[in-house]
Parts: sequence; C-alpha cells; structure tokens
Amino acid sequence: MITFEQALDEVTKQIPSLGTERISLADSLGRVLAQAVVSDIDMPPFDKAAVDGFACRRADLEKPLQIIETIAAGTVPLQTITEATCAKIMTGAMLPIGADCVVMVEQTELLPDGSVKILNPKTKNNIAYKAEDIQSGEVVLQSNTLIAPQHQAVMATVGSTEILVYKKARVTVFSTGDELVEPEQQPEQGKIRNSNGLQLVNQAGRMGCEVRYGGIIPDTAADSERMIREAYAWSDVILLSGGISMGEFDFIPAVLQKLRFDIRFQTIAVQPGKPTVFGRSGDKFVMALPGNPISSFNIFELLAKPMIYRLMGYAYAAKRIKFPLAVDYKRRRSARLAFIPAILDEKGVNPVDYHGSAHINALSAADVLFEVPIGTTDLCKGDLVDVRFI
Ligand code: AMP
Ligand code: MG
Repeated sequence: MITFEQALDEVTKQIPSLGTERISLADSLGRVLAQAVVSDIDMPPFDKAAVDGFACRRADLEKPLQIIETIAAGTVPLQTITEATCAKIMTGAMLPIGADCVVMVEQTELLPDGSVKILNPKTKNNIAYKAEDIQSGEVVLQSNTLIAPQHQAVMATVGSTEILVYKKARVTVFSTGDELVEPEQQPEQGKIRNSNGLQLVNQAGRMGCEVRYGGIIPDTAADSERMIREAYAWSDVILLSGGISMGEFDFIPAVLQKLRFDIRFQTIAVQPGKPTVFGRSGDKFVMALPGNPISSFNIFELLAKPMIYRLMGYAYAAKRIKFPLAVDYKRRRSARLAFIPAILDEKGVNPVDYHGSAHINALSAADVLFEVPIGTTDLCKGDLVDVRFI
C-alpha cells in the first residue's frame, strides 16, 4: 500500500503530452495552449479616456472651458486642445492632442454660455495610457494554460484567432459488474443501476476529453480481456470502475497484467478508494477505480484528473485551502488519509450526512472534500483542515 502523495507522484511523473493541433479561438474553451500567445499590439493602442467627460489641460481646470469637439469612441479627434478649450469625450475614445486629463462628466457643470465649469480641479487624470497593460511583442499567455473565457478575451484582444493546443485525451469508460443494469432499465432482484458510467463519462467530459462509453463489462476474465482489448487501440486512457477488490469475480488486475500493462500500484492509503489500480503500457494508461460511487468519484478527482490533464499538457494541481471545521469530527480508524464530503459556508466546513462510499447521494450537496490525515481520529470545531473543491 502506498500513500496518496506517492500515488499522485506516480500518476503525474513522466506522463508524455499528446500531440498538438491548430484550432480556432472560438473552439478553444477548456483546451490547453501548446504555445505562448504574443501580443501583436499595444494595449491600450492609444491614450484613451477612462471615463465619459471632458478632455482638457490640467493647467486650465480653474477656468471655464470652451467645447471645441465631441469625440466618440472609435473616432479620431480632429482638433488640438489649447488654452481654455476642451473636448467632450466618451469612455474608450482617443485622447486629443494637447489634453492631459479627462474630467468626469459628473464633476462638471454646463454654463448658460455653453462653456464647461470644472467642479473638481483636483481630478485624477482618468486616462488609460498607451501600452500601460500590454506591450506589442509581450507574452500575454504562457504555454500550458488551461483556456477559460478570460483567456479567450485576452486572445481575442491580441488577434490570436488560430491557436496551437494539445490534443484531447481519448478516454474510454467501462463499468464492471454482473449486478449492473443501465439506468433506463428496471433492476431485477439482486441488481442495481449503473451510476458510475455516466458519472465518469462526464467527469472526463467536463475536462475536455474525447470520451467513449464502453458499456458494462460482465464479471468474467474473458469478457474483461476482450472488451479492454477492443478499446485499447483508440484510447489514451481506459477508465474502469469495480472489479478490483478481493472478491472472487474481481478479475480486472489480472486481466490488465495479462494485457501487459505495467501495474504501478494497486492499493493506496486513501479512504474511500483503497483499491485503485494504475497501469501503463507505453503511451497508454489504465486506471481502475473502486466500484462504490463515492470512491470512484473521489479517485477520479484525486488521481485520474491530474493524470489526464498531464496528457493534455496541463499541470493540474487541485487548490487546497485551509478552512476551520464548523463542528467536531470523529472517525474510528486512522490508517488512511480520508477525503470527506462537506458543505463550505461562513461557519466553515460542515461534513454532510455520509454513511460511506456507497452512499450515492452524499455528494449531492457537497462543495468540497476535506482531508483527515493518517493518524488522526478526532478533530475539533475550529481546527483547520485542508479543503479542495469538487
Ligand atoms: P466491486 O469493486 O466490483 O466489488 O464493487 C464495489 C461496490 O460498488 C459493489 O457494491 C458494486 O455493486 C458497486 N458498484 C460497482 N460498480 C458500480 C457502478 N458502475 N454503479 C454503481 N455501483 C457500482
Ligand atoms: Mg464488481
């Protein structure tokens, strides 16, 4: 049995990144940059008004100013500001030559003769200066950035409309177990519905993977071998759930070995999720997750996610933040690092009602998992715990 830290190290070290491809900016959400993005312009490209108001000379702020022009955003000023003159200017419009400040319209008064009185001669400049945010030729996004809408805004600004990204990981998801029927079916006696299949398909799907659902593998070595073999060629990653414990029909580890996966670990000191198999065969990876739905969800988040993101060029590391427990927390055994579902609110970390890893709806209201370290059974209200969002 290895520790969680060792397992995390194993699933993130020496993971080759997939190839790259060129895509359009519009299709780039959730993809990972394979190249730095460089700006082709200064931002702002010109000195511009940061407020709606009057562009004028600071030296003239005590005088009534004569309006010589109205400058709309997107137009080029035609006049130069000289003594005791100003231009009406809109936010984002080019500053006219001669002006060194923009007085907010709220801090001015229009006089009956059509001139403008400045009510606040101590005004800020209210100018966004050319290149104060970005200089032409500057790197605005580093390679290996996971693209979110805010990054798309940056790329749109610098005209990066065709970008180089890492390919999507191809992930095949299998469920295993003769007790499983698909959700559309009414389970007969002794059967339950397959909940891990859809859960894992979409945990991988929301990371931007290309996912195929391979179905339910019956509990025989022959079926396991055949179905995994069929998925092998297309997949970068095969995710399985169930079939890896000590039961008489838990064939998966032996089958993976037979298929020449190099099994890197089979048990980890994590709760839930002790039986977790990770193997690799060249550039192909397999992770077999424990069958109980909370375990398979957690281990996907804890280990499959960092591994798959590496393949896609992104060095994902869950943000762990310390928050105080809102209540006392106790557990009986302490041999494993536990990840407990909880709601995070202004009082702190509130463990949800949780009967164990088969308690399918325990995660429904949870925002976070908090850690209970190895060797710890009792935590008190107010103790700081490591929390990660799910
Ligand atoms: P196993 O590791 O195959 O013994 O499975 C452990 C527990 O998880 C058993 O109670 C299974 O019925 C349950 N289980 C396994 N796979 C699934 C699944 N895909 N959906 C729901 N429960 C599952
Ligand atoms: Mg099973």
